[in-house]
Amino acid sequence: MNLVILGAPGSGKGTQAARIAEREKIRHISTGDLLREAVAKGTAVGKQVAGIMAAGQLVPDDVVLELIREKLADAEERAKTNGWILDGYPRTARQAEALEEVLKTTGETIDAVIYIDLDPDVVVNRLSKRRTCVACKAVYHLVSNRPAIQGKCDACGGEIVLREDDKPETIMKRLEVYKKETLPVLSLYEKHHKVHRVDGSKPIEEVTSEIAGLIGV
Ligand SMILES: [Zn+2]
Repeated sequence: MNLVILGAPGSGKGTQAARIAEREKIRHISTGDLLREAVAKGTAVGKQVAGIMAAGQLVPDDVVLELIREKLADAEERAKTNGWILDGYPRTARQAEALEEVLKTTGETIDAVIYIDLDPDVVVNRLSKRRTCVACKAVYHLVSNRPAIQGKCDACGGEIVLREDDKPETIMKRLEVYKKETLPVLSLYEKHHKVHRVDGSKPIEEVTSEIAGLIGV
């Protein structure tokens, strides 16, 4: 089963992708992970990506697509699992079209698209209460996952802070970009694929069971 998961920042898309992958024994292909992995491995692409990220620029589409193509085509991983869930790509209609071209070369198709729907107010509320450890990057939440000692990381004792990305004004900007760029992907997919919408405001476990039910497993 090959899936694409879409959702706004803060919708829980990454968490759900990981849970569905685990449950269905399929690969979780996250563009964030692919980029970090490439940088960590120090491959040619990794070095290029590290430079771009250090300069605070966006990694070009063709670089991300190449990483995905390599991952999809990986014979060893293909032999081990029966499908994948793509998380973090495509973000734009152009990327969606490029992905279709890649899938032609791997002989695969997207079986279903999962869209996690979430009200922007809920997103802002969720993300602005998130705190991140400056040292180990552990993530906390002021309501649902508070550190034992206020302002200190449980894991390493580091300082926990509100990331620039999680400030309400930054979130609003990210949501604007998302609406402008990613909602066209949804319209495009609605024409060609089966799109399942789920309510992202429900608890994590409920959202996972709903997705599992919708994709028929
Ligand atoms: Zn820490």
